[in-house]
Amino acid sequence: MRVLLDAGHGGESKGTLKGFLPEKELNLKVVLGVYERLRNEFDLHLTRHRDIHLSLQDRIRISYKVKPDLFLSVHHNASEEKLKSYRTELYTSWNIVSPSYDFAYMIEDEIKKVYRDREVYVYPSKFTVLRGFGKIRLLTEIFYSEEVGEKDLENEVDILVNSIRKLASMDFANEPDIIRSYGKYSKPKGYLTTYFKELRKGRFKNANSDWIVVLGSGRLFWEGIELKNLLGCKLYHLGMGVQPSQYEIAYRISKRGFLKLIFLKYGKPYIRYYHTSKESEYVAKEIARVLEYPLGHSSEYICIHPDGIRIEITSDNLDVRKLYMCLSELP
Ligand SMILES: [Zn+2]
Repeated sequence: MRVLLDAGHGGESKGTLKGFLPEKELNLKVVLGVYERLRNEFDLHLTRHRDIHLSLQDRIRISYKVKPDLFLSVHHNASEEKLKSYRTELYTSWNIVSPSYDFAYMIEDEIKKVYRDREVYVYPSKFTVLRGFGKIRLLTEIFYSEEVGEKDLENEVDILVNSIRKLASMDFANEPDIIRSYGKYSKPKGYLTTYFKELRKGRFKNANSDWIVVLGSGRLFWEGIELKNLLGCKLYHLGMGVQPSQYEIAYRISKRGFLKLIFLKYGKPYIRYYHTSKESEYVAKEIARVLEYPLGHSSEYICIHPDGIRIEITSDNLDVRKLYMCLSELP
C-alpha cells in the first residue's frame, strides 16, 4: 500500500495558534512520527517534511505524482465558540461510496481504545485538498490544538499507525477504486445496486446486532446524542446541512453490518418503517403506540440486512427517555 501523508499548513500558513505549538508544527510532528514508525513497512511519502509553504493545489499535484492508495491530511481543530466538549472530526472525500469511510471508522475504533468517551464525527467533505489522487482520502482533526499535550500527540501517532496497519490488512485497500474504475462521471445505471449486492453478500457475516442511531441534518442533534448514550450504541451524523442520500446511509450501514437502525429527522411527528423484516414493522408499531405518533411505511429498496430493522422517526419534540424505555422493553 502506498501512503501519502500531508501535514496541514506550513510556512506563512500557521493554522490555529491556540495550542502549545502553532498548528502547522503540531501537524508536522504527528506526520513525522507516523513516518518514522511506518517507513520500513509501506511505500510512504510526505507532501512536506519541514516548515515550508504549500498551497492546496501543490498538495493535489503531489498526490497525482505519487498516486497513493491512501492520502491522509493531518490537521488540528480550533474552536470558534465555547464547546460543551472537545470532539474528533474526520473528513472523508465526498464520494458517497468510498472506502474512505471504512478508514475513518478504523480511526474511530483506535481513538475509542484510548479516549473511550470521545465523540467522533465522520463527515463527507468537499475540502479542496481531498480532491486529489487516492482511493482513500481523509482529513483528520483528531484533537483541538488548545486541548492537545505532548502525550496526546504520541497517542495520535499510535492511533494513526494502528489504523494504517489495519487498513493495509483489508482487501479493499488493495482492490481497484470502484468509483475510479467506473469513471468519475460515467457511472453505469444500477452500479450502486450491484455494489450493494456485493456488499450484502460479503459484509453481513459479522453483522453487529447493536442499535445504531443515524442523524439527518441538524435540529435533533442533542436528542441523538442522548439516545446514543442511553442505548450505548454508535451514532452517525450525516453532515451539517447535508441531506444524506439513501445510498450514503445504506453504504455506511451495510459496510458496518448493523442490524438495527434508528434514523432521526426533524419535522412533523411521524414513524416510518421499511420493508426489511417483520421486526421492523413490529418495533415501529410499538414506538408509534408509545410516542403516539402516526405510523407509515415505505417500500423503498433499502440496503440493510434482510432481517434488519430500520425505523425513521420524524419529530419536532422527541421524548428520548420515553423512546428508550419503549426500546428497552422490546423482546
Ligand atoms: Zn488546519
